[in-house]
Amino acid sequence: MFRTHDCNSLRKADIGTQVTLAGWVNVTRDHGGVIFIDLRDRQGLTQVVFRPEENAELAKQAHTLRGEDVVEVLGTVAARLPGTENPNLATGDIEIIPSELRILNRAEPLPFPLDSEPQNEDLRMTHRYLDLRRPRLARNLRIRHRAAKATRDYLDSQGFVEVETPILSKSTPEGARDFLVPSRVVPGKFYALPQAPQQYKQLLMVAGVEKYFQIAKCFRDEDLRADRQPEFTQIDIEASFVTPDDIFGVTEGMLAAIFKTTRDIDIKTPFDRFTYREALDRYGSDKPDRRFEMELVDLSQTFRESSFKVFRGALDAGGVVKGINAKGFAGITIGQADELTEIAKLHGAKGLAFIKVENGEWKSPIVKFFGDAEKTALQSQLDIEEGDCVFFAADKWQTACDVLGRLRLRIAEMQDLHGRARPSGAPDWNFLWVTDFPLFEWSAEDNKWNAMHHPFTRPKAEDMPLFEAKKFSEVRAEAYDVVLNGVEIGGGSMRIYEQPLQEKMFEALGITSEAQQAQFGHLLRAFRLGTPPHGGIAFGFDRLVMLLCGEPSIRDVMAFPKNNRAMDLMSQSPSEVDPKQLRDLGIQLSGDKKV
Ligand code: ASP
Repeated sequence: MFRTHDCNSLRKADIGTQVTLAGWVNVTRDHGGVIFIDLRDRQGLTQVVFRPEENAELAKQAHTLRGEDVVEVLGTVAARLPGTENPNLATGDIEIIPSELRILNRAEPLPFPLDSEPQNEDLRMTHRYLDLRRPRLARNLRIRHRAAKATRDYLDSQGFVEVETPILSKSTPEGARDFLVPSRVVPGKFYALPQAPQQYKQLLMVAGVEKYFQIAKCFRDEDLRADRQPEFTQIDIEASFVTPDDIFGVTEGMLAAIFKTTRDIDIKTPFDRFTYREALDRYGSDKPDRRFEMELVDLSQTFRESSFKVFRGALDAGGVVKGINAKGFAGITIGQADELTEIAKLHGAKGLAFIKVENGEWKSPIVKFFGDAEKTALQSQLDIEEGDCVFFAADKWQTACDVLGRLRLRIAEMQDLHGRARPSGAPDWNFLWVTDFPLFEWSAEDNKWNAMHHPFTRPKAEDMPLFEAKKFSEVRAEAYDVVLNGVEIGGGSMRIYEQPLQEKMFEALGITSEAQQAQFGHLLRAFRLGTPPHGGIAFGFDRLVMLLCGEPSIRDVMAFPKNNRAMDLMSQSPSEVDPKQLRDLGIQLSGDKKV
């Protein structure tokens, strides 16, 4: 037996007990020949004291210990000397007086210290196993485990069955770029790693599973950002004979269970719901952060007859004038104003007009263009008070919403609205649903309509006539996202389950009949063999855990993430392979001479 206790379990009541502990040497301190060691395992720390006067031989041996040596200590639990207790440590009342020290394995000098936040990310990733010894990351892995367990327990309690679906699957043209796996047995053909188990889970509905879930690995060959990784994990759910309300109910129950189990947080359910149009109109975003107010207000009526050309011009061209009031932001600095103007321009505005309210005066070059009636209306619509700063956007509806939505988020950061003063009881964990997304979005790059969610999403029943009339810009989808604190954590939809409708959808996306058969023939065939109405949702599990852990990046909640060049620095992957492996696969690299 390596140990009788873990390093977080001994207390005053254990004084006098013979124990064996094992773990890593966290810190050693030499106080005039007396060696103090904090022994660490995954549960915590226990102090071991080697006093030369008690055992000179042992103290000599302890003298050779270095950080991260792996040791086993046999000894007796003793009270710490009065005044030397450590109230910040669970085991801070006791220490171990050792009778034997076994050095199980020595550690070389470390590439970075483990007791402070290492700055060099590459170094951390190269030695990820050391990085993971740090308490913050160790805690994150445990929270992740508990979140996965809470998910499984909750969905199991609701009758959902976890089914694994293939990792070697089929490439389809819709969506992100696929990771491909060449087939050796069928030369010249490729598997694709799944971007999500979307088709499989729908086929499981055809198979009569009715309630499916999976904590599923997904792969997308995309350019990386802070919260993206080439492989990531989803909580994937699908159910038959359901309405969106059923999916909302399961989701809310599951998220409540996850938050309760992992962090003992009671979240408020049901979540508020906004249509896509309303979310954009009021918050300038399809994933609104409602931990603070600063809503977008439509001022078009007020300025309909305005003599201010910029506003009038936008309105006459069919656009809108909208504004936000940043309460107490009249002290905006020139640097901040410049940054906000840049953001506005980046998102399509020609410039940025704003008014500061200081000493009872509205300060802005545009105010002189406003009539008294306009000022009065503006004041009441935006609730303008001393100390406020009001920003305007006059543009096409979409652009105006987008610009003010971006400003709203950046101003909230500048004012630190996330961390303090919640408006009227808004919770720290602000969940909401966004529904009724557009079914299609126009891709200027591809010069065609793409599915906003994916090609299997149903048009809303009341918009079917628009769909049939090919008024694609107006068709709404039976699709929904769940948003937490301005981050989209999940999304899903009711699905098309009728073969003719699915074919029409593919057609709208510019997929020819031949391509439909080649790529989706199996699904279209299945839809002719008794497919129930069904729908589902999927959650970015990494992002969810990131938020639960209060981390800024999903890398901090993954054991072995890739860096921003999609590389695993620890194992040096991706790597070159043996030419024989390539020959077996019938593959020649374009750098090869013979090509
Ligand atoms: N499979 C979809 C996705 O990964 C989610 C869903 O529609 O259930 O985005």
